[in-house]
Amino acid sequence: MSTIADNLAYVRKNISDACIRAGRDPKEVTLIAVSKTKPVSDIREAMSAGQTVFGENKVQELRTKTTEITEPLSWHMIGHLQLNKVKYLPGMVDMIHSVDNMALAEQIEKECAKKDTVMNILCEVNMAGEESKFGLAPSEVKDFVKSISGFNHIKVKGLMTVAHATDDPESNRVYFKDMKKLMVDINNEKIDNIKLSELSMGMTNDYTIAVEEGATFVRVGTGIFGARNYAV
Ligand SMILES: *Cc1c(COP(=O)(O)O)cnc(C)c1O
Repeated sequence: MSTIADNLAYVRKNISDACIRAGRDPKEVTLIAVSKTKPVSDIREAMSAGQTVFGENKVQELRTKTTEITEPLSWHMIGHLQLNKVKYLPGMVDMIHSVDNMALAEQIEKECAKKDTVMNILCEVNMAGEESKFGLAPSEVKDFVKSISGFNHIKVKGLMTVAHATDDPESNRVYFKDMKKLMVDINNEKIDNIKLSELSMGMTNDYTIAVEEGATFVRVGTGIFGARNYAV
């Protein structure tokens, strides 16, 4: 077995154990293998180990990789997105996790209308309140969701967050708990067209905690593909 296959097996086992601890069905959790900066050969190794869902954070890299790999995979855009890059995403990705402003939502609506398609999106929320982070403040999310609920080419599926990079992942639990509460609160508003069900939360250092707190997508990069080398 390759290292990537070993890592995938290990991560899947941890997810399934966390589900059992939390009384959840492991089928509720989708593992997104975050392949950013990694070569196509690594993605192919993961595919050989049965992985079909991949996450990238740059549009250019997505375009290159989806041109090279023509097998039917599910690609997720998880990174900060510039308006002029939105046009490449309809038909390429199944979901955009990082929608955190009106201009971006409008651009997605416009580009998807042109192509007569609907984009699944998540609203990115800065649960941990870090200044350097993208994402809406928790207090802004309800109004934001309401303001895009009438868009015909966007389907708001849920919320996404990036918690702290920390040596003490247990300290991120509160952010995951609070994001789930936020989702329930928004659903209780009974906004037309809005029924949120997805929570994208948890990365290599904290995905088991996120699963215990209700994650439906976990985004794991390093834990599958090893450390990233941004210098190359
Ligand atoms: C890179 C990245 C991940 C994966 O991070 P790891 O710590 O390597 O698992 C998850 N989510 C987002 C938004 C990322 O940019």
